[in-house]
Amino acid sequence: MRQILLLIFLFFASQWVFRKLRRATERTAQTGPQPGAGNSTGTAGATYRRSGRAPGDAPQLTDPLVRCAQCGVHTPSSESLVVAGKRFCCSDHAHRYAARPTGRDAR
Ligand SMILES: [Zn+2]
Repeated sequence: MRQILLLIFLFFASQWVFRKLRRATERTAQTGPQPGAGNSTGTAGATYRRSGRAPGDAPQLTDPLVRCAQCGVHTPSSESLVVAGKRFCCSDHAHRYAARPTGRDAR
């Protein structure tokens, strides 16, 4: 049992050392006078991933789902149509909603 715990501890310790070494190599690659081809692409990919997250989350927050007044389907506000203050999933439903008889005429 002690041996298993020791192995787990060694596993985490090696991971920690590996991370430290990685950071050290990244720093040397950035501050180095001549960045190698492999190192430059690695750092570029890391920065791209960090910067790519923010724009990916933004559209979801600024594009809420709206309910179609005709069929009740939820569609993104950018894809929905607004006709006479009502939101629709497609132009066909907007026409149907406008063409349908109103409450007074139906009764
Ligand atoms: Zn619809």
